[in-house]
Amino acid sequence: MHDDSVTEFDADETLSALPQTGEREVETTLRPRKLAEFVGQPRVREQLELVLESARRRGVPPDHVLLSGPPGLGKTSLAMIVAAELDAAIRITSGPALERAGDLAAMLSNLAEGDVLFIDEIHRIAKPAEELLYSAMEDFRVDVVVGKGPGATAIPLDVEPFTLVGATTRSGLLTGPMRDRFGFVAHLDFYEPHELEQVVIRSSRILGVQVAEDGAAEIAGRSRGTPRIANRLLRRVRDYAEVRADGVVTREVARAALRVYDVDELGLDRLDRAVLTALVSNFGGGPVGLSTLAVAVGEQPDTVEEVCEPFLVRAGLLARTPRGRVATASGWRHLGKTPPNGIFGSGAPPAPDLFGLES
Ligand code: ADP
Repeated sequence: MHDDSVTEFDADETLSALPQTGEREVETTLRPRKLAEFVGQPRVREQLELVLESARRRGVPPDHVLLSGPPGLGKTSLAMIVAAELDAAIRITSGPALERAGDLAAMLSNLAEGDVLFIDEIHRIAKPAEELLYSAMEDFRVDVVVGKGPGATAIPLDVEPFTLVGATTRSGLLTGPMRDRFGFVAHLDFYEPHELEQVVIRSSRILGVQVAEDGAAEIAGRSRGTPRIANRLLRRVRDYAEVRADGVVTREVARAALRVYDVDELGLDRLDRAVLTALVSNFGGGPVGLSTLAVAVGEQPDTVEEVCEPFLVRAGLLARTPRGRVATASGWRHLGKTPPNGIFGSGAPPAPDLFGLES
């Protein structure tokens, strides 16, 4: 997945959930091919299995499938699995590539019966293409407008029955009519450490890396709930194991390797830790405004807000309150410091004024 709002930042990329330059090839190698190989997301897997099996039995293409969730959680992999499980061909495009309705019409007219059309970042599709897609999804026909002005004519075009798989990191940006045309909608959640451990073990077999169970667990625990990051950390740790150790990824080797790459036990990188440290050490744990915090770490407020904070919040280390950013008790403890009494997240109720308006 690709998201312009994040890629422009020059942040440390070891822990980015977006694919890095040159990573596509190895990602393809590591992609699960069948539902049974897809680790985690048990509910989505079970539901999808039913949708696909019932369509297979009835001999018709399944309902259109919408997959939403943060980058790196397996949306593209699932789209390919849908095609593989149906023994169907897959055509791949993305919202930003479908700027003109004509591009989409050409793509639709080339589909064979039962094909899967995968549109990544479907929330970024241009309006005219989106409208064309509605009728293609609903009636398997589109009206292609030829010419301009009063002389323009609409030529109806039949489309072979197909299954659309849409992926989005921002399901909130999808229009109602678009969302309504998907018969099956699934949201992917961040993975549990034991699931990521399985991802690491599976990938290590494919890459031919020897990984001890505790080594896999160590990598999994630092991967921010994201398979793409788990696979990347595995490759970094493998490099270290080959150069500095005997090639086997044990817990000690994983720890030593991830120290070199500045990835701490919870999966925080240098900038994440700098933000938390500034919050605790310079501002007594907050509340402090975003821009003040950003200046303290020498970064743009946007970078702090969009690159660091989502994970710090999800990990329960930082809270965003109306009066500003606050380090939670876990945030203090993560830095090896004792949280002050009555602090946010320590079990005691937060101070009442914490939720007052930011002045
Ligand atoms: P997205 O499209 O959501 O950004 P991808 O499907 O491209 O994510 O997944 C990124 C990488 O993570 C893939 O190369 C794949 O190897 C790995 N991956 C994702 N989900 C899983 C999973 N459930 N099981 C195993 N590997 C996974």
